[in-house]
Amino acid sequence: MAKKILVLPGDYIGPEIVAEAVGVLETVDARFNLDLELEYGLLGGAALDKTGVPLPPETLERARAADAILLGAVGGPKWDANERQLRPERGLLGIRSALQLFGNLRPAILYPQLAGASSLKPEVVSGLDILIVRELTGGIYFGEPRGVRTRSDGEREGFNTYVYRESEIRRIGHLAFSLARQRNRRVCSVDKANVLEVTVLWREIMDEVGSQYPDVELSHMYVDNAAMQLVRAPKQFDVLVTGNMFGDILSDAAAMLTGSIGMLPSASLDGDGRGMYEPCHGSAPDIAGRGQANPLATILSVAMMLRYTLGSPDAAAAVERAVSSVLDAGLRTPDIHAAPGQRLVSTKEMGAAVMAALQS
Ligand code: NAD
Repeated sequence: MAKKILVLPGDYIGPEIVAEAVGVLETVDARFNLDLELEYGLLGGAALDKTGVPLPPETLERARAADAILLGAVGGPKWDANERQLRPERGLLGIRSALQLFGNLRPAILYPQLAGASSLKPEVVSGLDILIVRELTGGIYFGEPRGVRTRSDGEREGFNTYVYRESEIRRIGHLAFSLARQRNRRVCSVDKANVLEVTVLWREIMDEVGSQYPDVELSHMYVDNAAMQLVRAPKQFDVLVTGNMFGDILSDAAAMLTGSIGMLPSASLDGDGRGMYEPCHGSAPDIAGRGQANPLATILSVAMMLRYTLGSPDAAAAVERAVSSVLDAGLRTPDIHAAPGQRLVSTKEMGAAVMAALQS
């Protein structure tokens, strides 16, 4: 049966990078007989302009029916003055929570060809390949009650609730352990169990889940130490699993180890392996329409889709090899352009080179 892919190009550079990623998906579909069926939808600012809301019901309906979603990026100055409910990002949050995409996967891989682009010494980061698994639909970002209130003494105070149910911890734990089985079989669970009760429970449940994966080594680390270790010796990690807020911060720090945000893919998965795939970066309004956007993060998101939702690790590896080979050939978009011997290329040229490498 055909697999349905919903394509949501989004705003500013979104359509430019998605066009190249779709080209790669179509190339790989033809080469590996994947029987993919692509359809398009509106999300974010593009949806606001056409329908007045950031997540039209039609998009949500198609998203629910799809096996996977490929997203560019949403948002930008055009809609910055909109009220909260009518901001493009609300569309993104809406789709994540409606589809219960609780598992956010953010690999931080440093291609050896780009080792010079990292802010850390090449020997510290060269060959880096870690996967951060962040819980995405719970924790302090969603906990109730929340708000700003006035105390009896007249002073205002802001408050949020950091809460995780056992079942939420268990499902992200299982996801992290099963992903570790496809990698180097090591999971490091990050918490703040010396201070926060919610993460004492987190640690207890991770131990319980870990006991069901005796072939995977489990360790625990406090979040402050994890932040330090990520910039001191990041290659010690294989899979890092953590809650929503810690994951938000650690995954951005890990992203910068790799040098360019234009290279980083991500996946957000539900419990059945369906997911939304998108680059880690935003809609980059400053370079939109100039052909300067790096499409590789979105193309590598396609590779993640092939691996995690479409069950085609061979096709995923072929896309990753194709990306590596264009970097070997010295092709660089401006964000990763460093040395004189390299060839500066446009978004389209980079996409075309990856497609050509896939066909060769
Ligand atoms: P951004 O990631 O869009 O851009 C940050 C910097 O990185 C810019 O200088 C940009 O030119 C550069 N950059 C980003 N992607 C690039 C690429 N593929 N190739 C080359 N350079 C690239 O972050 P921002 O400027 O803070 O946000 C812009 C808009 O994007 C905002 O409206 C924000 O809300 C939105 N945003 C959306 C998402 C998403 O859709 N998931 C994520 C983050 C930000």
